[in-house]
Amino acid sequence: MPSIFTRIVAGEVPCHRVYEDEHVIAFLDIAPLSRGHVLVVPKEERERLHELSPQSAEALGRALRAVAAAVVKATGCADYNVLQNNGTAAHQAVMHVHFHVIPKEPGGAGLGLKWDAGTAGPGAAELAERIRAAITPA
Ligand code: 5GP
Repeated sequence: MPSIFTRIVAGEVPCHRVYEDEHVIAFLDIAPLSRGHVLVVPKEERERLHELSPQSAEALGRALRAVAAAVVKATGCADYNVLQNNGTAAHQAVMHVHFHVIPKEPGGAGLGLKWDAGTAGPGAAELAERIRAAITPA
C-alpha cells in the first residue's frame, strides 16, 4: 500500500504544496509545530534515509536548501531546525523519508529539544574507525 506521501505526490490526497521537481515535493505539515513548518519529501518511496538512491538523495539535498531559504524569507523567522526521523524509536510516524523544516520563533513555537549529551570516551577512536570502514561512496 502506498504511503500517505506517495498519495500526495500522486494528487490523490490534497496538500499545500510549496515546491516540486522531478524527484522531490515539499508541502506544509498538516500539524505544524510553528508557522511555516514544511515537509520535504523524495518521490522515491523509501522508509529510511540511507535507503534512498544517490540521485534522489542529491535532489533532496538541493531542494532542502531552496525550501529552507524560502521558509526563512516567507516567515521572517531566521532560526529553524531541520529534523529527519528514521524508525519508530526515533519518532518516525510516516514511513516514507521526509525532512522537516521547522521555524523556531524566539522563545516560542517550534521544535522542543531534550539533548542528554554524554562524553565521547576512550572508545571514540575505535568507533570512528569502524564507521570509516563501513562507509560506501555515495
Ligand atoms: P514524522 O514523525 O514521521 O517525522 O513526521 C510525520 C509528519 O507528517 C508529522 O509532522 C505529521 O503532521 C505529518 N503528516 C502526516 N500525515 C500528513 C498528511 O496527510 N498531510 C500533511 N501535509 N502532513 C502530514
